[in-house]
Amino acid sequence: MNRQVYGKVIFDLSKPGRRGYYLSPAGCEDALQSLPSSLLREKPLRLPQVDEPTVVRHYTNMSTNNFGVDSGFYPLGSCTMKYNPKINEEMAALPGFASLHPLQPIFTVQGALKAYYELQQLLSEIGGMAEFTLNPYAGAQGELTGLMVIRAYHDSRGDKARVKVIVPDSAHGTNPASAAVAGLQVVQVKSLPDGTVDVEALRPLLDETVAAVMMTNPNTVGIFEHNIPAIAEMVHACGALLYYDGANLNPMLGVARPGDMGFDVMHINLHKTFSTPHGGGGPGSGPVGVRAGLEEFLPNPRVKVLEHEGHKLYYHTVEDTSLGRISSWMGNYAVELRALAYILTMGREGLRMAGPLATLNANYIKESLRDLYLLPIDRVCKHEFVFDGLADKSTGVTTLNIAKRLLDHGFHAPTIYFPLLFHESLMIEPTETESLETLDEFIAVMRDIAREAAETPDVVKDAPHNTPVRKPDDTAAALNPVVSYFQLDSAKA
Ligand SMILES: *Cc1c(COP(=O)(O)O)cnc(C)c1O
Repeated sequence: MNRQVYGKVIFDLSKPGRRGYYLSPAGCEDALQSLPSSLLREKPLRLPQVDEPTVVRHYTNMSTNNFGVDSGFYPLGSCTMKYNPKINEEMAALPGFASLHPLQPIFTVQGALKAYYELQQLLSEIGGMAEFTLNPYAGAQGELTGLMVIRAYHDSRGDKARVKVIVPDSAHGTNPASAAVAGLQVVQVKSLPDGTVDVEALRPLLDETVAAVMMTNPNTVGIFEHNIPAIAEMVHACGALLYYDGANLNPMLGVARPGDMGFDVMHINLHKTFSTPHGGGGPGSGPVGVRAGLEEFLPNPRVKVLEHEGHKLYYHTVEDTSLGRISSWMGNYAVELRALAYILTMGREGLRMAGPLATLNANYIKESLRDLYLLPIDRVCKHEFVFDGLADKSTGVTTLNIAKRLLDHGFHAPTIYFPLLFHESLMIEPTETESLETLDEFIAVMRDIAREAAETPDVVKDAPHNTPVRKPDDTAAALNPVVSYFQLDSAKA
């Protein structure tokens, strides 16, 4: 471990007069003279005074306190933390892309618009949809956009009584939140013990007040919803639309298409399935696809192509029927480029392999641990599955303890206490990019933790023992956030 004390900020290292570089004042005096005095600073700016090696070591050491998918196995269920090939980064950093300005005339950005258009086309093909917009910045914003499309569709037909969205109890928390932000009422439908949506419970909820039903498939417990065709028929019969939360598209890539299953609107998380480094809140991209007949409601701007005698012109348009703008420009372009690079380097065959491998890896871990951990839904899973804590509950060791103990072994914790269907949820998603050796190491550590829980439970309960930070007080941090050094400083004074 490095010697830097975690939590030390660069201001703590400050010594008067230290500095890392020297700017010659030559030529600056005249410029200063010409500035209006109202714009000049009266007191010097309070900056830390540190030499260059101290700054470099401080930030380099701090970066190693952070866990990333490049530092170890990251089986965070529902988040698809797959390894991100570095070629994607190189493509996104090409100066021709990275130095673009969104207001450049389209004649100077034909390549960039072509890349954008091609990604729209590829996602439409992958999703089985008529058209995609790349504008939303995240999955949740994609959900909101999709629901706004659905509202615009019902409104355009004068069908104004549709104010409800039906969401399964296993859904990601963003589903009901997006529905509420879209001004719609949330109605929950329950799941069966096997983890799938209860079709008989759904049936009586469907009437002329329902705008949409949101489904995730495979759902957030990693189970394939095999009743989608029947559900689609029921939903359409009542005049509502079927929304696909495609954040978990990874196991379906190239194997099954939401459009073919009867979904009308969907979003994809490029930062999960299509390999963009994410975590800690960003960066993301949540493109939204619609079936034929709903394209006109997609947000502005839309990127299109004009073809004339073998020549192509890519351009963006703003249309009156659209629900309007949902992002300041055209989405998170660098994330879109990474996704395009990923799709093109994987190719049809590569993408087709990702889902089955992710599924195999998840089932391998599940079957290797099921004697020691409680498996509430005992079925072949897709990309992820949920344990309800340890099988032996008498030790008093909780899912939180297990998650913390995993950190001691250099593994990121799985998702814990979600889904809410079980008390001690521990949701594991290995993804396809992990080797058999990594999976075996993880399984061995999980088995060790179960043994420790029985023999020396306090070792597990007191974990983590060797991380840079041991047990942060999450509640105090949320209730009383100290977000600037000066706050800390004035508290000390
Ligand atoms: C991650 C996720 C979301 C939300 O995506 P964000 O980009 O974090 O907003 C929605 N639904 C499911 C099933 C997810 O896994």
